[in-house]
Amino acid sequence: MKLKEVIKKIENEFPIALAAKWDFPGLQYGKNKFEVKKIMICLDLTTAVLNDAISNKIDLIISHHPFLFNEKIKKIKLKYKNKIIEQLQKHQIAIYGLHTQYDSSKKGMNSKILDDLKCEDVKSYRNINFIKYGKLPEEINFDDLIVKLKTIFNIPYVQFLNWDNEQKIKKIAICAGAGGDLINKIKSDEIDVFITGEMKWNDWILSYENKNSVIVLNHFMENYFTNDMDIILKKIFLKDDISIKKHDIKSPIIYK
Ligand SMILES: [Zn+2]
Repeated sequence: MKLKEVIKKIENEFPIALAAKWDFPGLQYGKNKFEVKKIMICLDLTTAVLNDAISNKIDLIISHHPFLFNEKIKKIKLKYKNKIIEQLQKHQIAIYGLHTQYDSSKKGMNSKILDDLKCEDVKSYRNINFIKYGKLPEEINFDDLIVKLKTIFNIPYVQFLNWDNEQKIKKIAICAGAGGDLINKIKSDEIDVFITGEMKWNDWILSYENKNSVIVLNHFMENYFTNDMDIILKKIFLKDDISIKKHDIKSPIIYK
């Protein structure tokens, strides 16, 4: 299938119009006429992903985080990125960023994580597509929620702020990735806990002042994308002669 057709199918599911204004999603390198037989999915296009793609003769790499972010392919400053681009050009591998158009979708990561937690009535919070929220069928303890999150994301530690160790949780809001600055949108009388991947110090202070409970899981939580997109693309291209492969990047962060 031609690259143009592949992209059309993906954008039918995740229209670029859903992306944030500040984002740089979509096709970043590749020509419409490229023939696509093998797709690789990853959180970020790293050197390890590139090497895996080359040895598996991949035609298109779909990363969650756009590889080129407000930068022109000919004016990239980072050495490692230049090396990757050189290899992409040599092997004619296309790259595509499936970022906030996925995040804000009803079928995106935030909704899916709330589904995993067994939340009901999952929808955008206060019409902000990047924050989804839902209600648990029954209240659970704060600590039990942390255990569930550690299991889903396979992480040993979380950072959190709560107001009472006995706090019960029913209404959960989430913005995976760097969603900490959205804490100012969260009303503590509407949401029992806000879950995100990264939060700056000022936002921790604001959470404290506004009496918000928060759980911060680290940005690597978004590797959730890799598995989810593997399932989604296998459905989209079920009848096409295209194989889908995923590459779970290694988190560069070590916990001790
Ligand atoms: Zn992210």
